[in-house]
Amino acid sequence: MDNRTIAAISTALSEGGIGIIRISGGESFDIVNRIFRDKAGKASLLSFKTHSIHYGFIYDGDDLIDEVMVSVMKAPNTFTREDIVEINCHGGVLVCRKILELVLDKGAFLAEPGEFTKRAFLNGRIDLSRAEAVMDLISSKNSSALTNSVNMLRGRLYDRIRSLREKVLYEIAFIESALDDPEHISLDGYPEKFSKTVDEIYAEVMRLYDSFDKGRFIKEGINTVIVGKPNVGKSSLMNLLSGHERAIVTEIPGTTRDTIEEQINLGEVSLNLIDTAGIRETDDRVENIGVERARRFLDRSDLVLFTIDTSVPLTEEDRQIASLSAQKKVILVLNKSDREPVVSAEDVRDLIPGDPPVVRVSALEGTGVKKLTSVIREMFLSGNISSESEVYITSIRQASELKAVSESLDMVRKSLEEGLPEDFYSIDLNNAYSGLSRIIGEQVDDDLVNEIFSKFCMGK
Ligand code: GDP
Repeated sequence: MDNRTIAAISTALSEGGIGIIRISGGESFDIVNRIFRDKAGKASLLSFKTHSIHYGFIYDGDDLIDEVMVSVMKAPNTFTREDIVEINCHGGVLVCRKILELVLDKGAFLAEPGEFTKRAFLNGRIDLSRAEAVMDLISSKNSSALTNSVNMLRGRLYDRIRSLREKVLYEIAFIESALDDPEHISLDGYPEKFSKTVDEIYAEVMRLYDSFDKGRFIKEGINTVIVGKPNVGKSSLMNLLSGHERAIVTEIPGTTRDTIEEQINLGEVSLNLIDTAGIRETDDRVENIGVERARRFLDRSDLVLFTIDTSVPLTEEDRQIASLSAQKKVILVLNKSDREPVVSAEDVRDLIPGDPPVVRVSALEGTGVKKLTSVIREMFLSGNISSESEVYITSIRQASELKAVSESLDMVRKSLEEGLPEDFYSIDLNNAYSGLSRIIGEQVDDDLVNEIFSKFCMGK
């Protein structure tokens, strides 16, 4: 364990009311003592009560640098389980940097990204799933992501994994003791009972694994493409969703030649919106680039907003776009609903099999966004994300561990079906146990830990 005292600026480096320099480690108090003086001109942080905050000044020798509040938190009840001092200074970029420099000069080492949280993990304050949740929480882009990361931070995933792991461990222990002591512990009838338990554990593992789809949409946003023939109002719809003029709106067909991508937060969901040129067959070279892009993005998208202008009759182009979109999750967006319709919802529904949802909007008048948002939410996040016990996994690492655990459990099931003796599947059970342990950060190697925390931001 690294016992150097580390320091970093923990607030965003831009002009703001307050900036915080965080220092963690055994020498935190000594280091800050060398630069901090209270109103009476002296200070010994050690004499302060833990979890208390103190008014004073930061000095570089005799030069006054800033007027500050200093928070003193003594180990072990701190974020890192080490002594922590946080200097709340004025939030200017220069003053934060100056104080950090002083702290480094007095013996602290610059913290790596995520190092405070890494110490919290290594010192046993939080497990790996909660450490990952800290990162998710900071980068949350919508309310679902926030709720999910808070649930995870509260240990919802940790608790579930722990309880699954305990069940697996119980069976491992039982089988091993029965094999060691066959005279006293009988395995008669055990496979039937055990098989039920394995099914239950497997179902729960798969439930968590399947939550990754939703977790990914919550965390990263839904890759969305707006398609439709030229002039139906794609750019206008994009502007409406993003709430500001981003794409160029014109009355000339097919001007949105390049693609524009933007993350849009609609409260509970975020869309990664790609705007493309209208999909249409044409000889125009530039236009073709737009068409190719549209085709390409259709492939990569999770959701297609197929926009139709209901004030003009449907054309062959609408049908072509419909057939391209049919394989995806589609919402039929009936735009220009402020105008007299010449196309009915039924006509439009016939374009795409499978009865996709239909939403009427007017990009011009700004109506229909709420309905569109709730349809998207229902499509991708059905279920109660705000429920405290619900948790969706968000990291590929967790997902691939869960997959491996499910495969090990499947092997156990197969061995049971084939009536193989217990020692055949105890190795698979042990593998399942290790996989579950790794999700919460036990039995993981240093490289993985370093890789996970390196993705954190500075000062966290
Ligand atoms: P795109 O080619 O599909 O991107 O279409 P645009 O967004 O450039 O819109 C084409 C034209 O339709 C512009 O003149 C818009 O102002 C107009 N338009 C877009 N949405 C609506 C709408 O809901 N109602 C009406 N009446 N006009 C609209």
